[in-house]
Amino acid sequence: MQKFRRSGNVPVMRSALVRYHEIALKRGNRAWFVEHLKKNLSTALRGMGLREIRNASGRLLLNFNHDVPPEELTGRLSRVFGIANFSLVERTDADMSSLGAYVLETLQGQSFDSFRVETRRVDKRFPLTSNDINRELGALVKAHSGARVDLTRPELTVSVEILPSSAFVSLRRVPGPGGLPVGASGRLVSLISGGIDSPVASYRMMQRGCRLIFVHFHSSPFLDRSSQEKSKALVEMLTRYQFVSRLYLVPFGEIQRRIVAAVLRPLRVVIYRRMMLRIASVIAAKERARALVTGESLAQVASQTLPNIAVIEEAARLPVLRPLIGMDKQEIIDQAMSIGTFETSVQPDQDCCQLFVPKHPAVKATLRRAREAEAALDLEELTGLGADHVEIERFHYPEPKDEHGLHVA
Ligand code: ATP
Ligand code: MG
Repeated sequence: MQKFRRSGNVPVMRSALVRYHEIALKRGNRAWFVEHLKKNLSTALRGMGLREIRNASGRLLLNFNHDVPPEELTGRLSRVFGIANFSLVERTDADMSSLGAYVLETLQGQSFDSFRVETRRVDKRFPLTSNDINRELGALVKAHSGARVDLTRPELTVSVEILPSSAFVSLRRVPGPGGLPVGASGRLVSLISGGIDSPVASYRMMQRGCRLIFVHFHSSPFLDRSSQEKSKALVEMLTRYQFVSRLYLVPFGEIQRRIVAAVLRPLRVVIYRRMMLRIASVIAAKERARALVTGESLAQVASQTLPNIAVIEEAARLPVLRPLIGMDKQEIIDQAMSIGTFETSVQPDQDCCQLFVPKHPAVKATLRRAREAEAALDLEELTGLGADHVEIERFHYPEPKDEHGLHVA
């Protein structure tokens, strides 16, 4: 293993180059998407000394006032939807001698036996072709390090990007989360339980550029507050992807008590769900959201058969989006693990849907029977019992701080 040494200081990273992907394809709307991405980046990087974000030939160049801790910066950027990948870089002048000196400086302290140089010449006016640059810098690195060039499976890839008047060197491209910038596709109301599925459904809609308002139904005082605490913990995690969230906590116990008094056991879950969608629709209208989101997955549990889904949906005033509908449980669990919600979701809780329901609910509800059951209920009053008595919790990420660096409530 070669140890590459050279005198001088280790370069500090004061810039990042962010590459987007999908948003570049949206031709007519591209400027709009890029503006959203820039706004989200400045929120995500709050408190890190971000000086400016510049458009740089189909990429975004982020410049910082001072050195930034690479792990913190990498963590924050990897949660900003719309980023295809990014590199922590340092800017240098776009001429071969500056570039050569800078590449050698960047490689200080790196150990590698094989390498390649990979250049993208965005500025076609630069006098050398990408291949010429690769060859010239490759020869330089080889001479200083003794490592060999390996174009197919190198231990280290030195990436060079030549933009008008600036060049950037980086050793690592970090994958971003892809998708579209949060906020660019509009607002949705997401029904979040304390389970595994609804946080994953929420994540997938945020990845499609939606901003979510969360709604959780709880049965206190009939049950303890564990499901509320879980929903708060989950929303806090999901807020790292959309920066601000509101969680509506809806008291559902009294509504359930009234349903229990009027509806026979097998239909209760379906009637509970219809009430949830009615209340969520009222909240969505207030929040100017365009659709609802649930974590339903076809036939995963008895209440999620096709006939039941159709009967439940009929009570909603907006489209119901179900991003997990065709996924199987293991795929959902894998994604919950990768976004970090799984551990919290599997903690035991007292979920409102356990209250007064049979072990074997109806799997083939019909609209006629649901309406017959609801005829004994004052639906408007029940909707008001939930929608007019909500508690709202607010979440921010990163935590806003005042000028003394203290957290602001
Ligand atoms: P999850 O893992 O998301 O709890 P689940 O597999 O337990 O889903 P259900 O209990 O049938 O399935 O719930 C289906 C969907 O209904 C949930 O994904 C969620 O969107 C919504 N939902 C269920 N219970 C609640 C609740 N207490 N508050 C808000 N939404 C809920
Ligand atoms: Mg559940």
